[in-house]
Amino acid sequence: MKVLLVFAHPEPRSLNGALRDAAVDELKAQGHQIRVSDLYAQGWKAVVDRADFPPLAPDARLKVADASKQAFEADALTEDVKAEIEKLLWADMLIVQFPLWWFSMPAILKGWVDRVFAYGFAYGVGEHSDRRWGDRYGEGRLAGKRAMLIVTAGGWEEHYAARGINGPIEDLLFPIHHGILYYPGYQVLPPFVVYRADRLDEAAFGSIAARLRARMRTLSTTAPIPYRQQNGGDYLIPSMQLRAGLSDPHVRGFALHVRDEDAVQPQPDLEAAG
Ligand code: FAD
Repeated sequence: MKVLLVFAHPEPRSLNGALRDAAVDELKAQGHQIRVSDLYAQGWKAVVDRADFPPLAPDARLKVADASKQAFEADALTEDVKAEIEKLLWADMLIVQFPLWWFSMPAILKGWVDRVFAYGFAYGVGEHSDRRWGDRYGEGRLAGKRAMLIVTAGGWEEHYAARGINGPIEDLLFPIHHGILYYPGYQVLPPFVVYRADRLDEAAFGSIAARLRARMRTLSTTAPIPYRQQNGGDYLIPSMQLRAGLSDPHVRGFALHVRDEDAVQPQPDLEAAG
């Protein structure tokens, strides 16, 4: 398998750096081809601005989606963005690794998404009609590929449980899983989450690294989160409402978009360190 690991931590000697090395070593040992986009090491530009769109006339008003579409279609995005798109098309599997900062991804990684997931590549793809609403949510240019998050969090596992004060981890990660990865077509595997990461000692690191290595050995066989397909009949078009009668009537919010009719929902790989 061809694997791209996008890494967003400023310190190579960090816990995240050590986990990345464990994952990469295991993937290589399994015979996979692996490429790493180390965003801080690359000096990744994290904000979208007019410099991202060389075809845009200097006096033209910047409308980001329009400029993105025009530059993507003309193969005129900046070289750093084109290089990341090439890697995404190359890889069968995308791993995105980051420390949870303010209940989300570090800004540099959000900026990678904002710039690389261009119009015509990751959104604005496919036919819009009374039958289809574009190729998204399980369809799109990245369909057929898999993706997975590796996340470290300072908080306790219980704080991210169903009744925990931080909110359930699957809800916090939903905008990334469903809105960023599933949207352009990836099948999203359950995340690998390390809790109480700031308290980790070397002994705990050993067991967590072993579990991460185990996850790296099952990338092609792990069942993805069973999100509903937009164009698969579960939603009304164009209102995009889940059809009446689907899902348990007590379910609300993000969980509505995970099939519960015939699937056992996979649980995140919960890691707690003393
Ligand atoms: P590091 O600081 O590099 O290491 C953590 C611990 O692991 C250290 O004690 C280190 O000694 C130990 N360790 C054990 N083995 C190794 C090894 N082999 N190599 C390296 N280190 C090892 N947490 C939340 O839960 N929710 C939030 O919303 C949140 N927001 C944050 C916002 C900011 C701006 C910051 C800075 C932190 C936030 N945190 C939050 C905490 C954050 O998620 C953790 O600090 C982070 O996940 C720890 O990962 P790290 O790689 O930076 O750890």
